[in-house]
Amino acid sequence: MASQDPHTDGSDRIPTLAYKQALCFSCWDIPSNLNRCIACKRVSYCSVKCQKQDWNRNHKKICKKLVALNKQKTCVPSTGRRWNDYYDEQVYYPTHLERRAAGYEPYCYHCYRRESQLEDGAKLKVCRYCFLTSFCPSCQQTHPSAECATLQDIAADEKIVVDLYRKTGKISTISFTAFPRKYHIPFSSATGWYDYYTRFSDKGGFSSKMNPDLKYQANDPKEREFVEYMRYGTNTTTTQLTLIAALEAIIRNISTQHSINLHIIGAAGAEFAALPAFEELLHQLPSLTAVQLSFVGPNVFKDLEDDTESQKPHTLQCCTACVKMGRSISIATWRGLYHAYIDTKFYKTPDLAAAFHSGFSVDEQADWFPTINYLAHAPHPTLFTADRFFEIEGEMGVWKYLGAEFVKNAEVNKWKGMTPSLGVCGDKPNEVTYRNNWWYIVKQS
Ligand SMILES: [Zn+2]
Ligand SMILES: [Zn+2]
Ligand SMILES: [Zn+2]
Ligand SMILES: [Zn+2]
Ligand SMILES: [Zn+2]
Repeated sequence: MASQDPHTDGSDRIPTLAYKQALCFSCWDIPSNLNRCIACKRVSYCSVKCQKQDWNRNHKKICKKLVALNKQKTCVPSTGRRWNDYYDEQVYYPTHLERRAAGYEPYCYHCYRRESQLEDGAKLKVCRYCFLTSFCPSCQQTHPSAECATLQDIAADEKIVVDLYRKTGKISTISFTAFPRKYHIPFSSATGWYDYYTRFSDKGGFSSKMNPDLKYQANDPKEREFVEYMRYGTNTTTTQLTLIAALEAIIRNISTQHSINLHIIGAAGAEFAALPAFEELLHQLPSLTAVQLSFVGPNVFKDLEDDTESQKPHTLQCCTACVKMGRSISIATWRGLYHAYIDTKFYKTPDLAAAFHSGFSVDEQADWFPTINYLAHAPHPTLFTADRFFEIEGEMGVWKYLGAEFVKNAEVNKWKGMTPSLGVCGDKPNEVTYRNNWWYIVKQS
């Protein structure tokens, strides 16, 4: 979950299959034989080399704490255990990596017991279709087929990432429109991603090859890979498409607007990995010539290390067509909390501010509250997204308390990421989430 204090260790990119011990935690290979860390038993490796590498990178920081967690649950709960019992055992861990290692640990789908909680020496058996659900020897060895199918989708999409990583060393695919559009088609007229790919972007050639869920229909491996990349790419471009939809919702004459000033609040790794895709704003809104982006958050751009003091903007490399037309995207960064940023000389009221999957009602509330308090009555509208409905419920409670009004009420986002992912210790077992699944826009005062 992102926050104003994003975790910069990149750990949220580790495939869930690796947390579930179906892949080597280090190289993401699927060898015939994986060996667990003998101390914590929470991660598995294909070789000593991989284990050493991960130990030096991350594991030495968390192994001891995971061992401590194992010791807390030496009791043997019965098979009749409830989800809440499991849930209450999830100790809050300060780092993302620990929370994931603990939250994704395989447990029996029916009695919610982890392997260390089973009767002496008993082992969990993994579902051989999805690899993401396990069963203890005392329980039924199946789970509902619809659920298994969704989890198989997760595993298949993760395979795309794993292959990509093994081929290129990178984990993000960015797939947006290659050329600027000549005229504007309102996003509000689109039915969703399939419509976007076939009507708005220049990837329409594949329309007959995929179904509305962006799944490949025919049987050519190269084409299939391309369609899979388009589907996986929605997880990146969801940010830009949601922004375009929000701009349409708040600016009546968006199709003739020349410049836009956007603030991205609490920006985390996902927004930075997606930087080149911000050009999609120029490509879908042809009247725009200048986009000013300001990223504000305590850990923005640790890698790019821009000149935070002078806030000298960095210019995004755009395509030849955009450059020829004199169009540009400038990116400024400011490291700190948003409510502090508004008092600096760098602040200029934006057309729109956006906080993607902020999780402000469940995570780091103390850091978020002054910012949220400000945004309830700010001089600009603010877009919010969330992956899970319970976050939206919490956020609506906060806005009501602050007396905020909405330009757009919370609803399912047409431009959510199409790749499902497994929630870390969700409200229920195997809770599936989508990036930017929900969205709403708080009104300016
Ligand atoms: Zn390995
Ligand atoms: Zn360990
Ligand atoms: Zn069981
Ligand atoms: Zn399954
Ligand atoms: Zn361009």
